[in-house]
Amino acid sequence: MNIHEHQGKELLKRYGVQVPRGKAVFTVEEAVQAAEELAAPVTVVKAQIHAGGRGKAGGVKLARSIEDVRVYAEELLGKVLVTHQTGPEGREVKRLLIEEGCDIRKELYIGLVIDRVTGRVVLMGSEEGGTEIEEVAKRTPEKVVKETVDPAAGLAPFQARRLALAIGIPAALTGKAVRLLQSLYSAFTDLDCSIAEINPLVLTGDGELLALDAKLNFDDNALFRHPELQELRDPGEEDEKERRAAKLDLSYIALNGNIGCMVNGAGLAMATMDIIHYYGGEPANFLDVGGGASTEKVTEAFKLILSDDQVKGIFVNIFGGIMRCDVIANGIVSAAKEVGLDRPLVVRLEGTHVETGRRVLEQSGLPILTAVSMADGARRIVQEVEHRGGMSA
Ligand code: ADP
Ligand code: MG
Repeated sequence: MNIHEHQGKELLKRYGVQVPRGKAVFTVEEAVQAAEELAAPVTVVKAQIHAGGRGKAGGVKLARSIEDVRVYAEELLGKVLVTHQTGPEGREVKRLLIEEGCDIRKELYIGLVIDRVTGRVVLMGSEEGGTEIEEVAKRTPEKVVKETVDPAAGLAPFQARRLALAIGIPAALTGKAVRLLQSLYSAFTDLDCSIAEINPLVLTGDGELLALDAKLNFDDNALFRHPELQELRDPGEEDEKERRAAKLDLSYIALNGNIGCMVNGAGLAMATMDIIHYYGGEPANFLDVGGGASTEKVTEAFKLILSDDQVKGIFVNIFGGIMRCDVIANGIVSAAKEVGLDRPLVVRLEGTHVETGRRVLEQSGLPILTAVSMADGARRIVQEVEHRGGMSA
């Protein structure tokens, strides 16, 4: 789960990380009022969306007067902001963070992530803050320094000092940097984060270390331990189909392609996406209906795929072990009858009750193409979609 910058800053502040004074607002009037209360020489008007890269995209404005704050708030609220993280469709700005402008000497990067190879939390830092860290890592990997944290000991002061030194924090501020990094680490572990990133962390003219941005992501599997975090959820920022899928207890992730996939088992789902790629197609989603899905669940899953306008064709790839092929077939037929099947559908069924499953599909009278193997199915759905000129999506 992702949250907004202003929420991330509030959480980090509780852990002792210094952040600029600021307030989240939803209207131009509230923006003006918040700026008046701040009474700062420079006020920053920041679009709050669940994506980074706002600065470059014009979503962060420095205002030198209350009138400027009004102008920028009017400009940003309701605007669709396109950043390198939003995709071409962008995100509509519905709230702003009005905060005190700060005197930046230097912009640094710090972040905590989980390294899946070592299974440990890694602290990363760079003297190249404010820009995309992925770019820095690609262009100048020597400028990204790392410290792997021992889970039993936590982030050791010597590691924090070493990193602070490596990213050019002046010696006089080392003590502050160590406290800040340890606060960030406590927040990360207490709140079950998957990412905690401050980009930029700035050195100010008066010798402070301030978090000017905050990105916290939480591990969905641990959210049950944090009911207070659930309240920070902003459904407007989440994919509507992913939310529907979560309610149905389906593993669903929306992707950018145009071939909808319905598969059982995460491994087969990954392999299905690979083979679609292999034949030159792009999957529109990852969807694992799981092992013991009912006909109702399959129906809902199928309707979910059909509700995506991007989807120009569907590939159902089922290996029935626990999951019975006839259950899948009945789900497909009932969903297709309910909402209409207006796109090509290729089905590959194998395993338990496969004969009954195939019969259900044949007798449905629906224009379903059956595949003899996974490769055959992938090739055919890619062809079908290309044939209909749908590859532009
Ligand atoms: P994003 O990462 O989405 O681009 P940031 O919050 O990192 O958004 O802001 C982008 C840039 O805007 C920062 O690198 C910094 O230079 C500037 N900025 C952001 N907040 C402030 C602030 N409170 N005072 C001064 N400059 C700011
Ligand atoms: Mg940033």
